[in-house]
Amino acid sequence: MNILLTALLSLSWSGAGERLPFPDQPDIQLERFQHTGRSTRVFFLAPHENENVVNDYLAKKVQAEGGVFLILRQRGERHLFLNVAEQEYEVDPNRIFTPAGAESSLRRENPELAQDAALLQQAVAKAVAVGDFIKRHMNDLRRGTVIIAVHNNTDGFDDDGKDGVGTVSMVRYQKKLDGGAGYIKRLHHGTHDEDDLFFITEKRDFRKLRRLGYNLVLQHPRVADDPDEDDGSLSVLAEMRNLRYLNIEAQRREDCDHWDVQQKMVDQVFKLVRP
Ligand SMILES: [Zn+2]
Repeated sequence: MNILLTALLSLSWSGAGERLPFPDQPDIQLERFQHTGRSTRVFFLAPHENENVVNDYLAKKVQAEGGVFLILRQRGERHLFLNVAEQEYEVDPNRIFTPAGAESSLRRENPELAQDAALLQQAVAKAVAVGDFIKRHMNDLRRGTVIIAVHNNTDGFDDDGKDGVGTVSMVRYQKKLDGGAGYIKRLHHGTHDEDDLFFITEKRDFRKLRRLGYNLVLQHPRVADDPDEDDGSLSVLAEMRNLRYLNIEAQRREDCDHWDVQQKMVDQVFKLVRP
């Protein structure tokens, strides 16, 4: 892209994308940023609204260089709140891409739902409909679609002995793998902080990113067929559909967002997938 056009784009940057409301509950929306010049098979998704460290950078980058970036929005929180039978039920939006995943997330977040099978099924249907709405705006995940998730995680992990918080960390993935976790095929411990990593589905991306020193988690393809591994996440769905998937994970903390690292990771993904 020439310098003049880049300058014009940054001048016209308004910070807001196009809003696409979920028809059944319009307070749930996708905010879409895209390169208007050509169609793409590359879709970035930020499903957790409070994990937004790299959003502005990525939004500008897709507009300038290609691809589509979707941010799932409702109240600025990690989870979605679904209106069902005049009640509100919480669900993890990265667990709604299969019915089994949606059900287990709804049960976990709303224990009272287990008492009412009909209501639970209504809530599952609604959660799955939100998942389908997102898929629809990702080219219906047709063959050749590349999915890139964008997440932020907290420093360390629960019970790491260093006051860490959360469930994402290379140290924790290593413990999981050593403990026999079926969803991990391979790990590579690179040179970055334990919280900055790519979680991916394809060996070719593993090989390329390993050479560059990144932390890597390669998902085991068995998650596509093993019902116990069907957690309704986008990475499992990608495996089921045999689609290339990369998740760009970096730490967020009030005083120490890893913004610079995640920006470099985004740049690297653009080089890999050429949206
Ligand atoms: Zn997340």
